[in-house]
Amino acid sequence: MAKGGKDSHAPATRLVTGGRSGDFADHVVNPPVWRASTHLYPDCAALREGVKSNEDGRFFYGRRGAPTQWALAEALTELEPGAAGTVLYPSGVAAIVAALMAVLKSGDVLLVADNAYDPTRNTAMGILKRFGVEHRFFDPLDLDAFASVFCDRTRAVMLENPGSLTMEVCDIPALARIAQAKGAVSLVDNTWATALGFTGLQHGCDIAITALTKHVGGHSDLMMGAASAGERWYRRLRQTAQQLGHVVSPDDASLALRGLRTMSVRLKRETASALEIARWLEQRDEVAHVLCPMLPGSPGHDLWARDFTGGCGLFSFVLEGRDDAARCRLVDALELFGIGYSWGGFESLALPFDVQPVRARMPWPKEGWGVEDRCGIRLSIGLEDAGDLIVDLEQAFAAMDQG
Ligand SMILES: *Cc1c(COP(=O)(O)O)cnc(C)c1O
Repeated sequence: MAKGGKDSHAPATRLVTGGRSGDFADHVVNPPVWRASTHLYPDCAALREGVKSNEDGRFFYGRRGAPTQWALAEALTELEPGAAGTVLYPSGVAAIVAALMAVLKSGDVLLVADNAYDPTRNTAMGILKRFGVEHRFFDPLDLDAFASVFCDRTRAVMLENPGSLTMEVCDIPALARIAQAKGAVSLVDNTWATALGFTGLQHGCDIAITALTKHVGGHSDLMMGAASAGERWYRRLRQTAQQLGHVVSPDDASLALRGLRTMSVRLKRETASALEIARWLEQRDEVAHVLCPMLPGSPGHDLWARDFTGGCGLFSFVLEGRDDAARCRLVDALELFGIGYSWGGFESLALPFDVQPVRARMPWPKEGWGVEDRCGIRLSIGLEDAGDLIVDLEQAFAAMDQG
């Protein structure tokens, strides 16, 4: 592979060339699946040498990976400008928890965006609390309130952009600048855009986390997470992951690499279809709000246009004055959309959601909305024909109001 000027290549090119520089990839396009717990050394001197350097690319023992995992980590690092390295985890949640454990200690305070992924909130309220870390939820759209929630024990800020389910886009550079001025570490869950659409470290965050389960895997058949960081935090992430015993299987790493190679075409196509469907939904009487930052006029669009270079197929909408039974009739009537968790696969999914019971700082229904406009549905648009998906939604809206 040509190495010269690698950083000048566009991200779509880096998706193809990334992680293919190791000796192990010399004669094949894809690194083979190395299933290895034990690496054999030629002699005792090599064994002793092996312990000394804890780096990807150096054989030690399965807990430090093998060429398949190293290739994936290297490809992800090349995609994230400013990253010194990437650590892989057995799921996206494992990546979030382990990254938080890497930066926090007992007595610290963690700030969590109020629209963060539910399991992230649960981690703050559960295991982190048990280990002596306090948390405060904050509204990431209110910079003044954010600046005033810090205390001298505030150690880290957990951001997510756009927010899970409700899709608010926050001003990451401004939030990260405030966090840095207060001496706190900022982490961003960048699963929605991936580094293809939003470069977390370049926008001021210290650690960028991605659930590879979603867009990178892309085929709804694996679970994995990753965290990328500059030198200082990469070292700490790596050490913490090894102390927690996190490893990913070479088979899954190989699948994730396969998904990564086609991610830019998939995301482009899903973005185009999502926009077409969001525009169609906007015109429907049954829909009160379309929450799709990629859509001009939708909440968060201006910040999205400023900070992001790409989108994806995931967005939400809120029904106009319908109840949960009507919403379920709609979702149940869909034929092309599966009903299920996760997203980012090649197939479309629909998920009813209710956030009012969990939000501490961000009211739902939002200010200015009708009280009855609370029934949200999240769509993950896959690679089906957008016209077919619209026809499916149209018949499901009819079924909703026949019930
Ligand atoms: C799914 C998801 C995760 C967690 O990924 P898993 O691999 O399912 O553990 C983290 N963050 C966001 C925003 C997600 O949607």
